Amino acid sequence: MRCPFCAHDDSQVKDSRPTEDNTAIRRRRQCDSCGARFTTFERVQLREITVVKSDGSRESFDRSKIEQSVALACRKRGIGQERLDQLVSGVQRQIETLGDPEIEAKAIGQMVMDGLRGLDSVAYIRFASVYREFAEAKDFEEFAGNVRDAGQE
Ligand SMILES: [Zn+2]
Repeated sequence: MRCPFCAHDDSQVKDSRPTEDNTAIRRRRQCDSCGARFTTFERVQLREITVVKSDGSRESFDRSKIEQSVALACRKRGIGQERLDQLVSGVQRQIETLGDPEIEAKAIGQMVMDGLRGLDSVAYIRFASVYREFAEAKDFEEFAGNVRDAGQE
């Protein structure tokens, strides 16, 4: 890493530790030439993650799209915004943890479904009905029935 003070090309890492929220690594560096100390942060660049859609088209990862679809599924279900934010952050963290530059849209959809399943069964069914491409109405009824059965256990 180039020194920001004297532009010398090398610096040494003196200390390396995760930030408090564990979303970045903070490194204390010292320039080999002038001895200046500076700090760098290493974090995931989600904008560089590409989402591959089912038709093969690609787009940049956009957290707000997940927020919108989750908000839509949870509409009028009386779930606090904080819980929704937690769910979306959880999905984002899972994507970060994978560390791949590309992720399939259906994998993200599955993560959201997993999150909604534990949160609210109606929101889960709503989201799943959009996300899953049900071939026929009876496929959806069967799926919704399974969810209801699971909810009664
Ligand atoms: Zn320097």
